[in-house]
Amino acid sequence: MEHAFIDLHIHSTASDGTTAPEDLLDTAAKSVEDGLVTGDLKEFPKRMILALTDHDTVSGIPKIQKVAEAHPRVTIIPGVEVSTACGDHEIHILGLNVDPENPELNQGLEFYRQGRIRRNRKILRKFGELGIHIPEEELGSRPGEAVGRPHIARWLVRQGIVASIREAFERYLNVGEICYFGREKISQEKCLAMIRGAGGTAVLAHPMRYQFLGREELEKLIRKLMKFGLQGLECYYTSHKPEETRYLEFLARQYDLIRTGGSDYHGTTKPDYRLGLGKGNLGSTMNRIQVERILKSNN
Ligand code: AMP
Ligand code: FE
Ligand code: FE
Ligand code: ZN
Repeated sequence: MEHAFIDLHIHSTASDGTTAPEDLLDTAAKSVEDGLVTGDLKEFPKRMILALTDHDTVSGIPKIQKVAEAHPRVTIIPGVEVSTACGDHEIHILGLNVDPENPELNQGLEFYRQGRIRRNRKILRKFGELGIHIPEEELGSRPGEAVGRPHIARWLVRQGIVASIREAFERYLNVGEICYFGREKISQEKCLAMIRGAGGTAVLAHPMRYQFLGREELEKLIRKLMKFGLQGLECYYTSHKPEETRYLEFLARQYDLIRTGGSDYHGTTKPDYRLGLGKGNLGSTMNRIQVERILKSNN
């Protein structure tokens, strides 16, 4: 396809990002202005393709779509990043080009929302025992939004109890730390069925971030997920090293999986993950994303 500015993995305030869905187009425009994008893209905006993929919620999608209506050369792909279990760990499946109104999808996402609320209460109770009283209403939630550990971490930073989000996770919230509690998750099989049922393309997010898996185990996981309906691999991703990207492209070819990519932009929570650019050189790989295959597989 013609060169376009592409980012198929973006978070907003509907989950743990700090940019409102309505403001993401401005953020994208700023990334283009700040350069580091190649050739044709300097004639911005030739074409821009963005997927909003909040954690376990689609509540931001109508908001970004509304803003994009005024920009004919911007395509918004409705997406979601669903968490599912992998042993004691968590893996993320991106659903790209889902129907945000699909009832089964919304039912599954509501299950996650309720699960987070129950789990958050356990965390808050534990903090209470430690003498840190966190009022639930101060975590900030609007209908449909996925409020989780990052919101608790931000509260702790605001109160000066920890110096950074990272410290909040390392001292209290990471798996195994004193205030950690797990939450219920939908099985891999159901998660993929839910995404496919909503017309989405199912993609394994940031495959190289699962450090609990060796490469052989990762390939085994991919083969298993493919049986459940996996269609793509997120080959291009902010923290992937060039060698890892080549490896993922090789796997995608080997298994005929769709190559996708995205920054995982979260706003100020991950300041070095820039929308469409990652840490700088991501932009030049984004035109290797097989966008047509994603848009086609929706039908
Ligand atoms: P939850 O799903 O509510 O249990 O929260 C998990 C989310 O917290 C993940 O999807 C990440 O976006 C975020 N997260 C996990 N660890 C960290 C960390 N060390 N720093 C910042 N965010 C984190
Ligand atoms: Fe996140
Ligand atoms: Fe993720
Ligand atoms: Zn993400």
